[in-house]
Amino acid sequence: MEKSDAKKIWRGIPASPGIAIGKAFLLDKKEIKIIENRLQATQVEGEVIRFKNALEESKKEFLKLKEDLTRKAGVEQAKIFEAYLLILEDDFINQQVINRIRKEQGNAEFIYQKIVQETINKVSLSKDEHLKDKTSDINAVSVRVLNNLLGLKQYSLESVTSPAIIVAHSLSPGDVVQMSRANILGFAIDTGGKTSHVVLLAKSLGFPAVVGLKDFYSEVKPGEKLILDGERGEIILSPDDFTLKNYQAKKEKLLERDKSLLELAELVAETKDGRKLKLSANIELPSDAEVAIKNGAEGVGLFRTEYLYLARYNLPGEEEQYQAYSAIAKRIHPRKVVIRTFDMGGDKFMHIPGRPYEANPFLGWRAIRACLDLPDIFRTQLRAILRASTFGNILLMFPMISSLEELIRAKEFLNEVKADLKRERVMFDHKLKVGIMIEVPAAALEADSLAKECDFFSIGTNDLIQYTLAVDRANEKVAYLYQSFHPSVLKLIKTTIDEGHKNEIFVGMCGEMAADPKATVFLVGLGIDELSTSPYAVPQIKKIIRSIEFKEAQKLTGEVMKLKDVKEIQKLMEEDYQHRFSNRKV
Ligand code: PEP
Ligand code: MG
Repeated sequence: MEKSDAKKIWRGIPASPGIAIGKAFLLDKKEIKIIENRLQATQVEGEVIRFKNALEESKKEFLKLKEDLTRKAGVEQAKIFEAYLLILEDDFINQQVINRIRKEQGNAEFIYQKIVQETINKVSLSKDEHLKDKTSDINAVSVRVLNNLLGLKQYSLESVTSPAIIVAHSLSPGDVVQMSRANILGFAIDTGGKTSHVVLLAKSLGFPAVVGLKDFYSEVKPGEKLILDGERGEIILSPDDFTLKNYQAKKEKLLERDKSLLELAELVAETKDGRKLKLSANIELPSDAEVAIKNGAEGVGLFRTEYLYLARYNLPGEEEQYQAYSAIAKRIHPRKVVIRTFDMGGDKFMHIPGRPYEANPFLGWRAIRACLDLPDIFRTQLRAILRASTFGNILLMFPMISSLEELIRAKEFLNEVKADLKRERVMFDHKLKVGIMIEVPAAALEADSLAKECDFFSIGTNDLIQYTLAVDRANEKVAYLYQSFHPSVLKLIKTTIDEGHKNEIFVGMCGEMAADPKATVFLVGLGIDELSTSPYAVPQIKKIIRSIEFKEAQKLTGEVMKLKDVKEIQKLMEEDYQHRFSNRKV
C-alpha cells in the first residue's frame, strides 16, 4: 500500500467491514437536465413518433424488469412494475403530451416533463390518499421515459449482471435490499454515516461498505478497478499489482480469521469469572436467521421488520407477515426472537398512505408515532406477530418510545388485538413478553417508570446518540460529532441499565455500540444483560467477553464514568483495548 499513488486513495467513513476487489458499477441517480427546443412544422409528427417510441421502449423495459424480479423475488415484489405499466399507458398524460407537441411545436422531453410535473402537483393536492401516494410512481415512470427520449442508459441495480462494487452518490435502504438479490461485492457512497440504515443493512447482508466519501462518485469511471476496505473506510482506485496482491492476502487473512472465530459458535458468552451475557444477533431479513445461528448467536435481539415493507409497491398483509414471523420463530427455536414493530420514517421510507412531507424526518412521524397513527397497519402487524407467538419464543418490542403515555397506548392496541383473537378463537402466546427500545433521551431519563410497564429494555444507541447529541446519524457532514463515548450518552446508558435492574427487568443493547469491540469491556462492566449485534460481529464480541473478568470490566467502567471529556474517555477505552487485545487475535 505504501507504494501506491496517494491521490488514488479515497478516505470515507468505515461502515461495514470486509474487503471487496472488483470493477466499479456507477449507479446513476442524478437529476436529468432538460432544455426547451422549438421545432419546425415539418418536424412535429416525427417528434410525436419519437415520444411514442420512448413509451414503447419503456414498456418493454418494465416488462423485462417485472419478469426478472418475479423470477428472483416472487410475484408480490414484482407488483410495482404492474403499477408502473398502468401509469405508462395512461392516456391522461400521453394524449396531452401529443396534443401539446403539435400545438406548441416543442420538443417531447420538455413538454412531457412539464405535464408530468403539473400532474404530480395536482395529485399531491388531492384528498384521495391512495391517489396522492402515486406521485413517486409517476416520477419513477417519467424518469425512465425521459431517459429513453434522451437516449441515456438506465443504470439500475437490475442491470448489474457480473460481480461489481456499486458506486453511487447515495443509496436508499430499498436499493440495498435489492442488492441482496444481485451480483454485488460491496458499495461506496458519497453520503451517509456509520449508523445510516443502508449501512446496517449492508452489515446484515455481509457486504463491505464505505460511506461519506463526499464527491467520490464523480471521480470514478464505469468499470474501473477498485479495492474497497470497509474496515479502514478506504477505496483505492485502479490499484497497481503490488497493492492488489497485498489486499488479496489481507482479504484471505480476514476470511481465515472469521473462519477460526466460528469455532466459538457453540460456546457461551461468559467472562473468565463466570458472568454470563446473552449474545444475540440483529437481523433485517428473514433469511438472516440462518447466518445468525451459524455465527453462534443465542437468539435474535432485534428483528427489524420494516424491511418486509421496503422495496415493494404494496403493504405486506397479515398472512404474509405471519408466514415471515413464523418462519423465523421456527428456524430460531428454541432460541428467542425479539420482533420489533415497524420503525418506518427517518431514513426508511415506504408507501404509507398519508405519509407527510417532513423537513426533519428523524424528529417527525416515525416508528411508534406512525404505528399509533396508522391503526390498521399497526393492528395487522400485531395480529401477525401474536399468531406467530404460538411457537413460544417470540418477544414483542416497540420502537422509539418517548413517554409513558405512548407505551400505554401501544399496549392498549396490543390488548385490543389480543381480545379480537380471543373472540375469534385464534391461538397466541398469552405470556408474550413486551419490551421497548430505549433510544430517545427522554425514555432513558424516565426509565424507572417505563420499566414498571414493560418486561425488558433494549438500548438503541444509534438513535440515542443522534438524539442526545443533536447529530443526524445519516449526515456525513457532522459525522465527526457522532460520538458514542460522549459522557452524556454513557450516563444515559448507565441510568437505563440501573433503573431497569432496580425494577428487575432485563436490559439489552441492540444499537451498533453493542458491536464495537472497544466498547465491550465497558458495557460488560456496566452490567448489561445482552448485546445484540450484526450476525457477523457475534464471534468477535464473544471472544472478547470470554477473555476478560467481570471484576476488571467493572473497574474500567468505574474509571470511565469519572471522566468528563469525550477525548479522555476515547483515549482510555483505546488504551485499555490495545493493552488487552493488541497481541491476541480478536
Ligand atoms: C438503534 O437506534 O440503535 C436501533 C437499534 O434501531 P435502528 O437502528 O433500527 O433505528
Ligand atoms: Mg432506532
